[in-house]
Amino acid sequence: MRRPLIAGNWKMNLDRAEAVALATAIAERSAAVAGADIAVFPPSVYVDAVSRAVAGTSLAVGAQNLYFEPNGAFTGEISASMLVDLGCRFVILGHSERRHILGETDADVNKKVIAALAAGLLPIVCLGELLGQREAGDTAEVIRRQFDGSLAGVTAGQMARVVLAYEPVWAIGTGKVATPEQVEEVHTDLRKLLADRYNNDVAGSVRIQYGGSVKASNAAQLLGLPNVDGALVGGASLKADEFLSIVAAAGGN
Ligand code: PEP
Repeated sequence: MRRPLIAGNWKMNLDRAEAVALATAIAERSAAVAGADIAVFPPSVYVDAVSRAVAGTSLAVGAQNLYFEPNGAFTGEISASMLVDLGCRFVILGHSERRHILGETDADVNKKVIAALAAGLLPIVCLGELLGQREAGDTAEVIRRQFDGSLAGVTAGQMARVVLAYEPVWAIGTGKVATPEQVEEVHTDLRKLLADRYNNDVAGSVRIQYGGSVKASNAAQLLGLPNVDGALVGGASLKADEFLSIVAAAGGN
């Protein structure tokens, strides 16, 4: 059985006090959650404060990005081992905002995935098509290209530590949600790709999250789909009650 993972991507929001307060509120109520993993992804400058605030609880902390080099003259960047040092367990890689606003390529994402795995982090690798690509009937091809490019050189053993997140770009932060049929079709394609590129064990065990305007009111329907193993949540993760309702919909309490 795949254990659902509900991840809150706070993006570039909140100040330090707000980040600590939100994490503390979620951690207090996560104690009662048995059936799902929960993680929050603060802005990198607040990861340390949030990690300290939730230390000893079941709430995991992650980062929204990393740089693939281990150290050196890379002004402004943060390495995988630095994130581990701050208590990170997860890292989001290849988020559409990084791909489409900051110009990250599949090759960039791939180097980051390899670096994250080498450092012991669990990468959440985001994949998703633009609206024009969906309308042109190219969704499956775009997802396949991102999958192969972002995961090149990742072994079957390492894939057990990777989480995939299907996030149609047109559904992120827009209030537009993919239909259950659209979500299940892409998640099924991803499982077939996992079986084809790796094996049936990997295909059966890798968690595939859906992301794109998930909120309390639509979570049960999306998380109830057979091939959906959790959610990557942006806007709705900034309010403890809303986020915890999504956790509850994952069967978490
Ligand atoms: C995201 O940031 O990954 C995301 C899915 O955002 P939202 O839930 O706001 O659409």
